[in-house]
Amino acid sequence: MINLILFGPPGAGKGTQSQKLIEKYQLSHISTGDLFRYNMKNATSLGKLAKSYIDAGNLVPDEVTNNMVKDFIERTPSKNGYILDGYPRSSNQAKYIDNLLDDFKLSPALLLSLEVNEDELIKRLLERGKTSNRIDDQDESVIRKRQNVYQKETAPVKEYYDYKKRAYSISGLGDVETIFDRIAGVIQKHL
Ligand code: ADP
Repeated sequence: MINLILFGPPGAGKGTQSQKLIEKYQLSHISTGDLFRYNMKNATSLGKLAKSYIDAGNLVPDEVTNNMVKDFIERTPSKNGYILDGYPRSSNQAKYIDNLLDDFKLSPALLLSLEVNEDELIKRLLERGKTSNRIDDQDESVIRKRQNVYQKETAPVKEYYDYKKRAYSISGLGDVETIFDRIAGVIQKHL
């Protein structure tokens, strides 16, 4: 089993690379963004709660997100492992998932960080906003807010995994296949 955290700012390409990793390594996908969007679309109580945070470019509170991930892992056992996409996004979430994997006797996660500069990120998100119906991608001020939240609240997650010697930086620039080869190169060493 291998558990991976696909890490990086909004627009780094986590969703695209996750899909390719799932196919190649037969992993179970946990995307907190997708789970929240599914709940918002179906107007569940979780979706209604998350919406105000998401529309403003803020993080949904840790306790809500952590519980959602725990429920998902409990309901979805995985033989080969999980790919965590967009989670953990705060130091509190990082500590929570480390303990949870340990409690469930699952392997500690490796963090793969996709590195992309801010100008490129904003360009990609505005482009995505034209075709997706994501409200949070259509307003440049919300996009910038998400980048600021990333720098302030999410970037420290990488330092936590650096300290644990489980973090890898990967350039997120170039074409999708080239980036995928870089990621697979790191994973191959841990299989
Ligand atoms: P992005 O495209 O900005 O990387 P996602 O599609 O992963 O974002 O998630 C969309 C929104 O859902 C985030 O801006 C945030 O409000 C919320 N969200 C997703 N994952 C988390 C998380 N781990 N903790 C708190 N909020 C989250």
